Amino acid sequence: MKILDGKLVSQSVKDELKKQVDALIARNKKVPHLAAVLVGTNGASETYVASKIKNCAETGFKSSLVRLNEDVAESDLIEAIEKLNNDEDVDGILVQLPLPKHINEEKIINLIRPDKDVDGFHPQNTGKLLLGQPTFIPATPYGIMLMLEHYAIETAGKHAVVIGRSNIVGRPMSILLSLNTNPGNCTVTLCHSRTKNLDNFCREADIIVAALGKPGFLTADMVKENAVVIDVGITRVPDATKKSGFSIKGDVDFNNVAPKCSYITPVPGGVGLMTIAALLKNTFNAYKAKHGM
Ligand code: NAP
Repeated sequence: MKILDGKLVSQSVKDELKKQVDALIARNKKVPHLAAVLVGTNGASETYVASKIKNCAETGFKSSLVRLNEDVAESDLIEAIEKLNNDEDVDGILVQLPLPKHINEEKIINLIRPDKDVDGFHPQNTGKLLLGQPTFIPATPYGIMLMLEHYAIETAGKHAVVIGRSNIVGRPMSILLSLNTNPGNCTVTLCHSRTKNLDNFCREADIIVAALGKPGFLTADMVKENAVVIDVGITRVPDATKKSGFSIKGDVDFNNVAPKCSYITPVPGGVGLMTIAALLKNTFNAYKAKHGM
């Protein structure tokens, strides 16, 4: 069994980006600029945004943060996004999800300029992904593809089971694995809460991507010998032994599943770190497209 090390792979992606940013600085060029919009003070969202900003700094990117109150009027959020859309200095925009209930998430996503949509959630970019055209790939599935590529994991002809069909993880993951690319060329089964006999699909899978948000859901009896297991889940579980009062759990029963796998991602230290590296890569790609590089 080999651990797919998100720390190592994300660092190599970031090192490569930093080299390119350093080359820009040496030529007195502007550096890539990622703007984040954070509505409210949700603990997990705060942590994610802080981490994205920290990673921008480590890679030499400029970042900015627009903070809005939980009860912000939708019209004010729209105004903030339009300002970023029109700001020539901003290359990539991300709106941290989820948004408060009174805000129409779909409307907000559709408002982000597609060429600055580094989360890859705009319908125009989703359509391109479906057609296999170059686009911004949602960061979590993109990060997983980078990881599969880094470890040269054979995917062609394999049966991949993706558990979860969200627009940000499961569905784009299923599309990417099914494309005629490397990694890709899998035969994909996309499972969700209405799937019958999910255990049987998993037991036949060469690759399993668990992205449902249920800690420890994927157990050893659901995994065949030598499977590749990718754990996307991040759930805060109360833990009195931790200073924060919680620990982070993945969707895989890691201790019992790992011995059966050829490769497996840990939580933390796996997909989460790759997600941020992929976001930075998307931002750099937005910068390059804008500057004709
Ligand atoms: P989501 O929008 O809640 O979607 C969950 C999906 O799982 C849905 O499609 C749902 O099916 C399916 N599901 C729920 N219970 C199920 C069950 N018992 N059996 C089969 N399918 C089931 O969640 P998400 O945004 O995709 O996130 C999933 C997990 O990944 C969460 O833990 C989240 O925190 C984590 N995440 C991690 C990263 C990272 O960087 N590592 C990034 C994003 C998300 P229905 O469609 O039928 O409801």
